[in-house]
This record gives sequence, structure tokens and C-alpha cells, in this order.
Amino acid sequence: MNCPICAGASVEMTHLKCADFDGSPLYQDIRLRTCNECHHVFNELTTEEKLGIGEYYEKESSLINMSGTTFHGDLPGSDNTLSIQRYEQVYKFLSNHISREMRILDVGCGMGGFVRFLHSNGYTNTEGVDFLESYIRFAQNEGPGTFHTASAYSLPFEDSTYDLIILDHVLEHVLNPVQVMSELKRVSRRGGLVYIGVPAASQYGDYPFFDFFWLCLREHIHHFDAAAISFLTASFNLAPVDQAIIYSQMMSGAMILPNSLSLFRNQLEKVQRDSISASQNLISKMEDYIETEAMYLEKHKRVISSLVDKKVPTYVWGIGKELFCLYANTELKYCTNLTLIDKNQVKQTSMKLDGQSILGNSILESASKDSVLIVAAVAHEDSIIKEAGQIGYKGNIITLGRT
Ligand SMILES: [Zn+2]
Repeated sequence: MNCPICAGASVEMTHLKCADFDGSPLYQDIRLRTCNECHHVFNELTTEEKLGIGEYYEKESSLINMSGTTFHGDLPGSDNTLSIQRYEQVYKFLSNHISREMRILDVGCGMGGFVRFLHSNGYTNTEGVDFLESYIRFAQNEGPGTFHTASAYSLPFEDSTYDLIILDHVLEHVLNPVQVMSELKRVSRRGGLVYIGVPAASQYGDYPFFDFFWLCLREHIHHFDAAAISFLTASFNLAPVDQAIIYSQMMSGAMILPNSLSLFRNQLEKVQRDSISASQNLISKMEDYIETEAMYLEKHKRVISSLVDKKVPTYVWGIGKELFCLYANTELKYCTNLTLIDKNQVKQTSMKLDGQSILGNSILESASKDSVLIVAAVAHEDSIIKEAGQIGYKGNIITLGRT
């Protein structure tokens, strides 16, 4: 398997299984690889898995995001509290370098939240583009701003059009980052700016959240740090202007994502690439992260095995990434009367896990005293415990978070 950045040879770092909703087009095997040449860290996908990614965003991810019970969490281009907080952090980073007359394009704008944010700060020449029609329809209804449905691989714009291009939490999702960068370079004006924000993979270990969580976000095909982004952009003559790390809350204060922000200027002159050893740091950090996560997963395997042995009726609240990791890697499915709970209506009405329906939390009213409730949605631990109490749940509650 050749590296998607430099076409060099690669080796496998780890192979982790992950469960998912029945019929989900998202791939379930996480085969993390690293490039021998440029040290890029990425997931290997089969041809079938590659095809499933687009379908996943269209049929599953956008549906769940747009029907979520949370009006708080940082979702793609939302106006939720935590999204706005992150926009403010990104804006603070950009504000020293940008001006209100700039023509701006947000590539992968999701529901258009950052475009609206910039408009409300006086950047009225700002447009958004996303390949998901449902997000663009939402953005167009919300206004202001011009929005287009198009792929980042083939933007419907003239060459040298934009003064600032925003690529915020997009590059880690795309199969071919080189092709996306080439298209951005084309529509970017010479002397214009390109902003790239990605999860800072070298800091996953400092903000672990849950067993292998940052790898279980399988939509993240690539794992970058600032050095890896600079290595990629250098070949497009994008010269570094500024760099920062910000820490943003995703679903709650319990879930902090480290973000690497980089700003580049599109220039004619060649940009000197840093020595590739700069990104070797990322590999050793990822190896440490994988080792620690494996230890926590072993610990949770033991917790679940003991529930199976004792034949305790088991409820799980929170059907998402944490549960999928547990389901694929522990004996959870063998727990006595395993009952799956989530408040998301889309999950309740149209999704199943291993043939089993997902129920509302009122099922806990009839739970016995000797049952166990596993809180799988770690970001919402406190509110789930509180709600379980209000429903009158009398069994034991097990939490899985790190703190
Ligand atoms: Zn490479």
C-alpha cells in the first residue's frame, strides 16, 4: 500500500476492529499505516471501503448530525454553542492576517456555520462549498452567504479567484489530500492565503477521552500534525505564515480535541520542505498513544467479562463510537439481556446493532435492582447519570471515562 501523500512504501502500525450499525457503509476495520518515506499516518481502505465513505456521509452521518438531540456539540458547520466557541478560536488565529474585503471560500463548510460567523463579523464576501446537498440546503435556508454543492476535488470556480481559502477539519476526511490541495491551489489567488485546520494527531495521547477514540473516528482517514501539513503544502508552493494549537470542546467539556491550525501564503517561488524527520515525532507519539489505549481496552475487557460471568442484566446508554469499540473488542454482546439505549430518534427508528433495536431511556423504568447500566457516551456521563436517577433507575451504574 503506497502512501497517499508521497507514494512511498508503508507499514502497518495497528489493526483495530470496530462495530457499527447494521448496514452502515462505513468501514469497520481500522488498519493504520505509516509511510516509510514521509512518515504520514493513514488508514488503509479497500476499494469497497473507499466507496462506502461517500455513502456514509450522505445516508448516515449527515442524517444523524442534523437530527441530533444535542444543540450544544460541535457538529459540521453547526451554530451550536461549542461550534461557535471553536469558530471564535479559529477567527482569533486568522484575524491578524485577514481583512473584510477579502473574497473567502470555506471548502467543506458543512451546514455553513463558519460562513455565517464570518458574515456576522463583517466578512460579507464569504462563500461555502460542500459535497453534501443536505448541508448546503440547510445553509442556503439559514443565510446569509452563497453556498454551492460541489466536491473539493473539482470546484466549480475560476482559477485564481479567492483571497482566503478555509479548509477546516476537511483534509483528514478526504481519500486524496493531494488532489484537494491541487484544486485549492488552482482557485487560490497568487499572494492569497490558505488556512488548514486538522486534529493534532501528535496530541491524541494527551487528550485520550476513550479507548482508541481518535482512531475509532473512522471518517478520519489521515492523522496529521503541523509538520505533516507543512510537508504536504510545501509541494504546492504554500509558504508558512502562522501556526497554532487550539483546544476545543467537541460534545462537552469532557471531550477536548487538540487542533493544529496552519496558515499559508500561495506564492510562485518554491517552498523549502522541512526535513522529513520533523514528522517522526508524530509516529512515536502515535505509538505511545496506541500502547496506552490498548491497556485501557484490556481493563474494560475485564469489566465486561465479569458482567458476563455474573449474568448481570446489562443496559448500555449511548450508541456511538465508544460502544462500537467495546462491542467489537469485548464480550459485551454476551451480556445477559443486553439492552441498547439512545435518545437520538433516527437511531431508535431506523438503526439496529447486530439485529437489535435501539430503545428510548424509558425502558430503564422497568429495570431490576440487580441490573447494570453502562454509560457508553462518555461526553454525556454526568447528564446520563442524572437522567437515569430521575427515571428512577435503581441498578448499578458503570462509567468508562478516564477521570
Ligand atoms: Zn509518504
